[in-house]
Amino acid sequence: MKKVIIILDRAHGEGVAGKESLDGKFKEWQASQSTIEKLSKGLEKLGIPCAVTVEETTEPGFNERVKRANEAGDGYEVPVFISLHHNAHDRIFKARGSEIYVSRRTATKESKEIANIIAENLIKDFPEMPWRKEWPDRLEREANFAVLVGTDKVKPAYHGVLVEFGFMSNEEDLKLLKSKSFMKRYAESLLYAITQICAHFGAGNFTPEIRVK
Ligand SMILES: [Zn+2]
Repeated sequence: MKKVIIILDRAHGEGVAGKESLDGKFKEWQASQSTIEKLSKGLEKLGIPCAVTVEETTEPGFNERVKRANEAGDGYEVPVFISLHHNAHDRIFKARGSEIYVSRRTATKESKEIANIIAENLIKDFPEMPWRKEWPDRLEREANFAVLVGTDKVKPAYHGVLVEFGFMSNEEDLKLLKSKSFMKRYAESLLYAITQICAHFGAGNFTPEIRVK
C-alpha cells in the first residue's frame, strides 16, 4: 500500500451565489482553483502523489466531492484531504483572518495533526493575517462541513481539513487576497506544510528549498 496522497478540494464553482467579494472582483472558486493549480505543479515536481476533486468549473455537489476523494485515496495509507476556501460574512464586515477546520466530533487524530501543521505554517508565514481560534489552546476549529463529515449517501475515507484563508468581505483581507504575490506566498506556505505532513507520516524527506512557479 502506498503511503500518502494529497487530495485537493476546490471551493464551490462558477455561478454559486454569495461566494465572491462585494465588488464581485474576487471570486472564491477562481482563487481556490488558482492555488490548487500552483500546488499541483509543486507537488508533481516533488513527486508527491496528488489528486483534485473538481476538474470542471461548476459545483459537482457534496456527494460527488466525497465520492471522488474516496476514490482518489483508495490504496493509500494516509489520504490527506485539503479543502481550500476564503471566508465571507454578509453582515459583520469587521470579521477577518484565517481558520482551519476539522469535523466536529468525528475528526480523526490524523486530521487534527494535519490541521496543526498547516495552521503553524500559515501563522508563521502570514503575521499580517490574524489567526482565528475556537479554543485558546487549539489552532484548529471544528465544524460539520459536508466534505469533512460526509453526507447521508457517502462518508469520507480520508483525513479531511478545510482552510478558510481570509475574509473576502473584509477590506483589509480582500486587499491581501487580491495581491498576486500574496497568493503565491500562500501556495508556497501550503506546499511547505504538505512536505512537513508527508514527513510527519513517514512519507519521505523533502528539502526546505521549495518554490511554486
Ligand atoms: Zn467557501
